[in-house]
Amino acid sequence: MIFTLPPLPYAMDALEPLMSQQTIEYHYGKHLQTYVDNLNRLTEGTPYSDFSLEQIILVATGPVFNNAAQVWNHTFYFEQLSPSPRPLAEGALVDAVIRDFGSLEGLKNEIIRASTALFGSGWVWLVCDRRDHLAILPLQNAGNPLTHNLTPLLAVDVWEHAYYIDYRNRRADSVGALWDRIDWTVVSERFCRMMRK
Ligand code: MN
Repeated sequence: MIFTLPPLPYAMDALEPLMSQQTIEYHYGKHLQTYVDNLNRLTEGTPYSDFSLEQIILVATGPVFNNAAQVWNHTFYFEQLSPSPRPLAEGALVDAVIRDFGSLEGLKNEIIRASTALFGSGWVWLVCDRRDHLAILPLQNAGNPLTHNLTPLLAVDVWEHAYYIDYRNRRADSVGALWDRIDWTVVSERFCRMMRK
């Protein structure tokens, strides 16, 4: 199996001005491409070349895990953003957000708080456990909730490469801007898919 760069679901400049074309060109076109290339180089001729990304994430360690998880995490991240994001509509996810965070604003504040508190590079995840409870899960480096037996719903990339061109050291501002490009229909579908399992 050859791992390939997932398609970007919008144009490189579609998230301007909150996320610049240059940021997407580097983040998607160079960083994500490098993870894909590294993963192919590391897995070629090994049993991993027949695995799915999820299978690799669950069993691999070291560089193979890091590059596989970064491909998965970035695919998930770019897919949840949109130039015309749809708001969170009535339904199971709204009910869970209100129950566990008080409001959507409460969830946003918790994600920004966790993003600024995470030391170094990593990801802040909105996750769901087996009892349908929501939680914020900060993970360093390439961390992925699947290895914690949790279902990811939303990913916030807090690696400096995700925001430094547009926001320099202002990580909280970059997460606030990202928030305004989250397509809640995508996040709700992830939640409903998990509930059906
Ligand atoms: Mn990234």
